[in-house]
Amino acid sequence: MDPLLEGYRRFRSEIWPAERARYEALAHWGQSPESMVVACSDSRVDPQMIFGAVAGEMFVLRNIAGLVPPYQPDAGYHGASAAIEFGVRVLKVSRLVVLGHAQCGGVRAMALGAPPEARDFVASWVEIARPALSAGRGGAGRLDEVEAAVVRLSLANLMTFPWVAEAVNEGRLALHGFRFDIHTGVLLRVEADGERPVE
Ligand SMILES: [Zn+2]
Repeated sequence: MDPLLEGYRRFRSEIWPAERARYEALAHWGQSPESMVVACSDSRVDPQMIFGAVAGEMFVLRNIAGLVPPYQPDAGYHGASAAIEFGVRVLKVSRLVVLGHAQCGGVRAMALGAPPEARDFVASWVEIARPALSAGRGGAGRLDEVEAAVVRLSLANLMTFPWVAEAVNEGRLALHGFRFDIHTGVLLRVEADGERPVE
């Protein structure tokens, strides 16, 4: 039994009948999600599950550690920046969420070194988060504080994209930072001076 195809069959038999009209409308009218989420690729941190979203509601970018790089328009392959450009300039989302999480292997790789077999791309990618290491309270101390600092860094990097800053300054776009605690299932709002659980 192939678990992937079994999952698909459950989708077709249990979810599709109830969701069919929504998908047909999305196919006809196109997508117009109100929110974009930048999250980690970690299999335990599914933004759609955490925020209870259905198809069409959330434009999602996932990468190692859920990082937003600084604005750098050159000939490089900027997958993360391309998704942000599409979400903000084409879909015109009204909120952009950076979702970090506890026990993040990407943040850990930045702080403590990437696994030896992940040095072609992972090691250099997570360097984006390096400035957060000193910003984390207690220096290179607790990893959860570094994870929160990485969320703040990604939010700051978002503001280096001129059309993100313009949309934020004109009140068309709101930026939010959260961190998900896998162990407790609690979502923490990342603020300038710390983190507070979402009620
Ligand atoms: Zn992660």
